[in-house]
Amino acid sequence: MARKASVGKLPKKLALIPLRNLIVFPNLVVPLFVGRSNSIKALEGAMKNNHVLALIAQKGAETENPTEDDLYSIGTVANVMQELKLPDGTAKALVEGIDRIKVKKFVKKDPYFEIEYEILKDDHKPDIELEALMRTVVSQFEKCANLGKPIPQEALLAAMNIEEAGRLADYISFHMNLKTEEKQQVLEAREHKKRLKITNGFLEREIKILEIGQKIQTRVKNQMSRSQREYLLREQMKAIQGELGDVSGGDSEIEELRKKIKDTKMPEEVEEKALKELDRLSKMSTASAESSVIRTYIDWLVGLPWAKKSKKELDIKEASDILDSDHHGLKKVKERVLEHLAVHKLATELKGPILCFVGPPGVGKTSIGKSIAKSLGREFIRISLGGVRDEAEIRGHRRTYVGAMPGRIIQSLNQVKSSNPVFMMDEIDKIGADFRGDPSSALLEALDPEQNSDFRDHYLEVSYSLQDVFFITTANMLDTIPPALRDRMEIIHFPGYTEEEKLNIAKKFLVPKQLKAHGIKGSDLKFSEKAVSTIVKHYTREAGVRQLERNVAAVCRQVAKQIVEKKKRSAALGVSKINDYLGTPKFHWGVAEEKDQVGVATGLAWTEVGGDIIKVESAVLKGNGKLTLTGHLGKVMQESAQAAVSYIRGRLNFLDLDEDFYEKTDLHVHVPAGAIPKDGPSAGITMATALVSALTGQKVRKDVCMTGEITLRGHVLPIGGIKEKILAAHRAGIKTIIAPKDNKADLDIVPKHVLKELNIELVKHMDEVLNIALGQ
Ligand code: ADP
Repeated sequence: MARKASVGKLPKKLALIPLRNLIVFPNLVVPLFVGRSNSIKALEGAMKNNHVLALIAQKGAETENPTEDDLYSIGTVANVMQELKLPDGTAKALVEGIDRIKVKKFVKKDPYFEIEYEILKDDHKPDIELEALMRTVVSQFEKCANLGKPIPQEALLAAMNIEEAGRLADYISFHMNLKTEEKQQVLEAREHKKRLKITNGFLEREIKILEIGQKIQTRVKNQMSRSQREYLLREQMKAIQGELGDVSGGDSEIEELRKKIKDTKMPEEVEEKALKELDRLSKMSTASAESSVIRTYIDWLVGLPWAKKSKKELDIKEASDILDSDHHGLKKVKERVLEHLAVHKLATELKGPILCFVGPPGVGKTSIGKSIAKSLGREFIRISLGGVRDEAEIRGHRRTYVGAMPGRIIQSLNQVKSSNPVFMMDEIDKIGADFRGDPSSALLEALDPEQNSDFRDHYLEVSYSLQDVFFITTANMLDTIPPALRDRMEIIHFPGYTEEEKLNIAKKFLVPKQLKAHGIKGSDLKFSEKAVSTIVKHYTREAGVRQLERNVAAVCRQVAKQIVEKKKRSAALGVSKINDYLGTPKFHWGVAEEKDQVGVATGLAWTEVGGDIIKVESAVLKGNGKLTLTGHLGKVMQESAQAAVSYIRGRLNFLDLDEDFYEKTDLHVHVPAGAIPKDGPSAGITMATALVSALTGQKVRKDVCMTGEITLRGHVLPIGGIKEKILAAHRAGIKTIIAPKDNKADLDIVPKHVLKELNIELVKHMDEVLNIALGQ
């Protein structure tokens, strides 16, 4: 049923329908869906009561059966224009707001609310401000529509035509999709200005929200169009490359690389980096220079042995056997190495120091390193650091450089394809530092077990753990190793070999090795002991056995040639043959003088190739007290000579010299060979002895040699390299050696059988030296 309502005089009491999510404003027509049974009864009541009812919003929409307290106190009295009962028992009504009302009293609650009320009249004084407010509100309303708020065109037009301020506010609020409590605020504002201001506030907020929304929209749109554009261009580029026949199967290559990256068990961080670079690569033309740089980089990452390890348990007994079977002698060294290995095995957690082998060339440092690798079942790599001055050699160049590469460490690991090799760094004493950075600090980072778990190579940009690498460094001398590095290393000294040791090494290792290398059978060439000894004595001068090995090889080469040429020859190789094969002897070992001489004393020197004996000559000439020093003497050695002279001048009585000898004579000290630089204080007592002999005319005993530093008062101070020096004296056939008393403890490292053949005189004062060397 439907009928048009007409409003007569308003009744005193009104049926009330609580509204959910809805506010009905005066003068506005609103459809109403009535579902709750109380409300349907209220509607029926209203229809009997002049078709008017009260519409008041409830405070929370969720309350099904609101009480008085759940309702606002201000609402609208409305006229029911149409009513329609629906088959499901609910109803639909079209209502028109008449006026604002305020509840005065609830007179009935069942079956529906009935209230007594008062009409709230609007309160307004038209003025310019009100006019301005109206215009603002209308234009804001329009702006909302322009920004995309769904407001019908008619509503806009209608708003422009409303002349009454209060109605305008009601109208716009109704169309603005505000929350119920916000609309209620507008409804409750009786004063027009206030009502407009509230509305305006809501409009402004809405505009802001709309503007932000629009900004987000444009940004998303831009991004969309950019990526679409890139996609399009790339597709076009592919098409063009296809037309030009320039297709390198880029995609499949990328996929192949991706698979490789996944297969290489690299750490997460690295894989992420590799995939990122791959992504960049995939977006590039294969012909560009940049793409080949990235490709190389990815190849490096993929090629490194991130997780590849040799896995073998260390067996100390086996290690000991390997060391013994590969090397003669070196007892102390082997012991130390085995100790180190044992600790390494027991305490994998314990980050022990790295080994540093110190000794002259050719004494077996590399060879011991190789044996360590063999007994650990690991790969062996060796790099030489001699002359490395650039940090980038160790740590690589940054990728921004043209032709950048990783440093030597990473390169080597890439070569052996194992992350736990035995890594030998030779000549650590010969690295230098200059403007290109300090390689030793980079090296420290690589070697120090505390920090090498994330070694950073400039090229790789990601960290690589060197924790499993077994580092060994080697050096010829300790002095020039940067102290920070030395601190972190366990030093193992490789002393030079005695003649006998060399003979044994040659017999057991070098000769068989060279015979095999040259394809000669043992029955075709037999080195006699004397022959080897001749090679050692007259064709080599070294602490190690390198030259010896080379000479043996030279002999083998020539014999091999003869065998091929089928020349008749005997298998035995005696001393006389050596001359034929190796030419005239190259070295005449410092041999003892043939007879006692005036002005010549024999000293002992330490060189990088071991010890040697040196002759110190001195001459007394007519002159006026000048001291001439020749033979390429270093500063320390020159000062030593001056100290010797001063000692002599202080001991005139003891030496039986004239008071004024110095005013009438020049002294000349010469140390051959003149072209070889010499330095150090250890020839002090030798120079003093030569000078005293020349001044007094007393002969120096030919079978005595000496080493020691001299002070002005004639004290003899200790020196270094005692083992090598004693071996040199022994080799030269000298029987008596004068050495500083303070070096007594060092004699322990000299082989016992050598000591047995020598007479070592330990002295504290120069006077004692003279007593022994000059024979009173
Ligand atoms: P370094 O590294 O100290 O310069 P190498 O290890 O290269 O010396 O030794 C040179 C050669 O001498 C190698 O062929 C090595 O096998 C051999 N060699 C050195 N010392 C011994 C030794 N004690 N026993 C057997 N061979 C040795």
